[in-house]
Amino acid sequence: MSTPLVQISQHVWIWPHHADVDRVQSAVGIIVGEAETVLVDAGNSPQLARKILSSLGTINAPPLTHIIYTHHHWDHVFGAHPFGVPVVAHEQCLPLLEAMRQKRWGDEVLRIHERNPNLKLDFTASDWADFRIVLPETLFSQQVTMTLGGLTLELRHVGGVHAADSIVVKVVEDQVMFLGDCYYPANLTDGPIDTGMLTALANEPVQTYIDGHRKPMTKSKIERIIRLYRKSAGI
Ligand SMILES: [Zn+2]
Repeated sequence: MSTPLVQISQHVWIWPHHADVDRVQSAVGIIVGEAETVLVDAGNSPQLARKILSSLGTINAPPLTHIIYTHHHWDHVFGAHPFGVPVVAHEQCLPLLEAMRQKRWGDEVLRIHERNPNLKLDFTASDWADFRIVLPETLFSQQVTMTLGGLTLELRHVGGVHAADSIVVKVVEDQVMFLGDCYYPANLTDGPIDTGMLTALANEPVQTYIDGHRKPMTKSKIERIIRLYRKSAGI
């Protein structure tokens, strides 16, 4: 059966990011172990979450057990509720989401929050009526390892220019790393990308890097980005 999911490696799939920047739809990672499935991020809306849930059957994914948030931004978190599983995140993610829970969210509030009046949203009225931000139940401060059958997931806090609670998630056996949005500022006009962070991540034993808002990248693509950026910045 055809599926919108894209296979990255033996155990890793993604629901790809949307090319339309006004949709602010980041990629969602799907890590398939022997007996359980873990998501990296939750998508930007309940509607997207429902699409992802129904797509899991097309790849015979075992039951979903956890979501890992790469950071607290809405486009990585607001789809969490329909999945109905506990969330793992960095310890700084919790107070940031608790603060976001104080707001009464809706399409217009989200457009103002995103500073984009053209933001395209897929929330229905009942989605907003049932909406809640799912807080992480399992927190860590620097690094934690999750095992998934024969798979090792390394979750590591990197912080940085994008969000204080940014983490990366490495699927060790598959040499895949989820970057979230960690190496660039939250608003691309706000300043430079963090070439130091990206260089350190490029030196890891990883073949494929999954960025929240770009196509998956090889190590040489990451190195090219670093070189181009340094050249244009005169570094
Ligand atoms: Zn972000």
